[in-house]
Amino acid sequence: MKKIAIYGKGGIGKSTTVSNLSAALSNLNYKVMQIGCDPKADSTKNLMKGEFIPTVLNVLRDKGDDIQLEDIVFEGYNGVLCVEAGGPTPGLGCAGRGIITAFEKLEELEAFEKYKPDIVIYDVLGDVVCGGFAMPIRNQYAKEVYIVTSGEMMSMYAASNISNAVRQFKSRGYAELKGLILNAKNVENEIELVEKLCKEIDTNIFHYIPRSYLVQEAENNGQTVIERFKDSDMATIYMDLAKKIMEVE
Ligand code: ATP
Ligand code: MG
Repeated sequence: MKKIAIYGKGGIGKSTTVSNLSAALSNLNYKVMQIGCDPKADSTKNLMKGEFIPTVLNVLRDKGDDIQLEDIVFEGYNGVLCVEAGGPTPGLGCAGRGIITAFEKLEELEAFEKYKPDIVIYDVLGDVVCGGFAMPIRNQYAKEVYIVTSGEMMSMYAASNISNAVRQFKSRGYAELKGLILNAKNVENEIELVEKLCKEIDTNIFHYIPRSYLVQEAENNGQTVIERFKDSDMATIYMDLAKKIMEVE
């Protein structure tokens, strides 16, 4: 089982990229589990016809020990398994702690043993890499880390912080940064700027994703580009990302 975590600044396009990646992998006949680690719990909605699924934390609150895997793992587009960790009421409690609780519950219920995914993908908010948000790169949850960034200063700043955090935890866990996913915002000299960042943090541009209006069009219908525009160039770009990720050792 391959385990990867996708980090990046808020709003940079993590959930979009991850959902299209999951959908693409499912079309390559891999069993995929996507785990949203954002209190907003919207990671998987474009795999679920635009619907929000119940979060692990909410179901735990409602059902307590009666919780079953079927209450928190949902089949979305083409059999992709969707999970949302969820979070505390805004302003109350620690979001990081919530992620830890959700992960522990999935483990206790033996989610991976039961569904046997070929690949598990964690979609993680990356502005603050502390506590729970660092979970996927600690304790052997995820082995490979990719960071989504554009050439905008703040998203590159976040990418640099996340890269440092991955290195910090390397001795304790085994997560390794495999590269940046450049989700273009079409800022001037974008590729050069991100290449310069790569030199500074000793990594590479793993994949380039252009901006495309098809992303929004699909999203407006609660779908990924892979589902809605499967013959488009943009779908091919996400399929290529999926193939490349499966080749990484
Ligand atoms: P958050 O940190 O809030 O979870 P996120 O990093 O998951 O945000 P998304 O929700 O995936 O970001 O994307 C934010 C917006 O950017 C969405 O409306 C999405 O449609 C748009 N978007 C993402 N990637 C692209 C792209 N390549 N082309 C056009 N629009 C894009
Ligand atoms: Mg998101």
